[in-house]
Amino acid sequence: MKPAVLREQLAQRAAQHLQRRRRTVTALDVSDGPGVVVDGQRLVNFCGNDYLGLNAHPALAQAMARSAASAGSGSGASHLVTGHSLEHEHLEAELAQFTGRQRALLFSTGYMANLAAVTCLTEGDSRVVMDRLCHASLIDAARLSGAQLKRFAHADAAAAAAFLARSAAPGNDLLVSDGVFSMDGDLAPLPQLAQAARTAQACLIVDDAHGLGVLGPSGRGSLEHFKLDSAAVPILIGTLGKAFGCFGAFVAADADYIEWLLQTARSYIYTTALPPPVAAAARAALAIAATESWRRERVLELAARLRRGAAQADIALLPSLSPIQPVMLGSSERALAVSEKLFASGFWVAAIRPPTVPRGSARLRITLSAAHTESQVDALIDALAAAMRSLHAAA
Ligand SMILES: *Cc1c(COP(=O)(O)O)cnc(C)c1O
Repeated sequence: MKPAVLREQLAQRAAQHLQRRRRTVTALDVSDGPGVVVDGQRLVNFCGNDYLGLNAHPALAQAMARSAASAGSGSGASHLVTGHSLEHEHLEAELAQFTGRQRALLFSTGYMANLAAVTCLTEGDSRVVMDRLCHASLIDAARLSGAQLKRFAHADAAAAAAFLARSAAPGNDLLVSDGVFSMDGDLAPLPQLAQAARTAQACLIVDDAHGLGVLGPSGRGSLEHFKLDSAAVPILIGTLGKAFGCFGAFVAADADYIEWLLQTARSYIYTTALPPPVAAAARAALAIAATESWRRERVLELAARLRRGAAQADIALLPSLSPIQPVMLGSSERALAVSEKLFASGFWVAAIRPPTVPRGSARLRITLSAAHTESQVDALIDALAAAMRSLHAAA
């Protein structure tokens, strides 16, 4: 594309309120909840994914420093050359144990883990049958796999089953879903999807980036919430950059699947291994998540508090039991306007616009963290109510 064309397209985006901008966080300020400093202003962060409030936990920073001193700041090579360290080895074993699976394989990002799982488990005649609202990385993975991609209506297990039933080689098909949908906060109908996969002999892949650490009686995620084992969901993907407060991702599965990914996944083989200090921090986070169940209980209580307060203030939230609590605003312009009003009141809730969400469904994606206080949640509701009122007044 020529620069003149780029400029024109960028101007069009700006006119449609679709221009993205970054704000530079100069520092964290966790003296009172999950605070960040932007342009000298302190804001309460209500749109991150640090659900358990582990990002600023001193145990993670200490683990990082200790590991860097002994193993170095970087891994220096891919896992299959010299980059696989003891921290990685321990973390994989602990993730396998945490998820109740034979093995886990670490990836640098969830994006790369998803590329690996989908591209390595399809063959020439495979279909990838995927929920319409699956994360962009899963869509990209399906495209890269070259398999036929079929997207079914959101959370419609019957539609998924119908696609699988019409397949030429159902045994080679993948059925793919998020566990908790990242922009909506709702849960996939995993028991029904597992049933559809079983009937068609397809393989079910669940990306539980937003469920792990948060849902289920012991924080094992959406699968634990629904009491589904590895026979029902053979391939589980999790990330370490959300509830676990650091960075990285993994695929957890039976040993045969993991060995196959290790041998064949290009997003595993042709990239530098995660820095050992990041793996060390993830281990510390996993240990805290496994023992401090109050964090999970607290973030879900705060989500319930937000829902009660919003209902009283006549603010409609999407139906969600997770820490992701979106307010649907429709147009990008409205979403931006409310987001900016909240920002001015000291709350950071980013506007989520197309193409991240379908056109006409721009929203504020409010997220909660165990680090928030009750009074911060209450103050957010007041500020949101005021911002919505001024929007109506302006309309
Ligand atoms: C964040 C996210 C990913 C990507 O994980 P990264 O580690 O950030 O690359 C994948 N899937 C879902 C559902 C996500 O929300």
